[in-house]
Amino acid sequence: MSTVGTRLPFWKSLGWGEAAFEIASPFLLVWAGKWFVGLVHGFGHLLDNDNVGATVVGTLFFGVVAIAGIVGVSMVPEVLRRLVIESACPCCGARRQRTFGDPAKSDASPTECGECLAYLRAKGVEVTEEHADAADLDWLEYALPPERYLPVVKIDNRSHFKFEMPAMCAICGSPDARQHREIGCGSSGTTQDPSRGYDDKLSHLTAPVCKKHSEAEAPSGDVLEYRSGKLMFASYRYYKAFCELNQIGGAKPPVTG
Ligand SMILES: [Zn+2]
Ligand SMILES: [Zn+2]
Repeated sequence: MSTVGTRLPFWKSLGWGEAAFEIASPFLLVWAGKWFVGLVHGFGHLLDNDNVGATVVGTLFFGVVAIAGIVGVSMVPEVLRRLVIESACPCCGARRQRTFGDPAKSDASPTECGECLAYLRAKGVEVTEEHADAADLDWLEYALPPERYLPVVKIDNRSHFKFEMPAMCAICGSPDARQHREIGCGSSGTTQDPSRGYDDKLSHLTAPVCKKHSEAEAPSGDVLEYRSGKLMFASYRYYKAFCELNQIGGAKPPVTG
């Protein structure tokens, strides 16, 4: 299934803040560069007692300015190659503007529908659903955020989230999946994020795998991870089967009863 959309100019993918930052970044670099050139010229007097405070503060300030400039400028090629497409979702029909990564890159990430649970890819202006066989044990592209699972999740007697795990290999989908792999921790950074509180309730999960994809035979990467309350899946097929089995709905809420 696929839909055909309209390609929009790349700058449509940028918010106002991001756009302003991109435009300002070359000027930031020049500004910081001028100051550092002045620093080199004035060398010798900089650390005189009168100047040392201004030198230290200026170096810190313009150091930050230079880093911001470098970050902004280095993002430009990536921003220019983004594919911004307005189309209907091939799965649920929701019409939206979506941004896709550089289609020439084999490791470009898929893009969420944003409405239903589907992940999408674009080829030119044609938008298709992610391939069922897609799986990546390093990046775990398919995310189930708490907003999606909280309305339906059950809690067990140790106050863990209780999910049914589809009876198939969490990588290749083989029904002969008699081994298990533990969920990995993908959380990083600040512990202030309130969604981190859900991580503990997800940390006991395991997913079935076939012999070929057991920890012993394919040790690197994870099939499942928790990441600040999000449940991340390596396999698109398994992600979809998991949502279906646990009645986690997208645009169309599951029929109950
Ligand atoms: Zn959709
Ligand atoms: Zn397998």
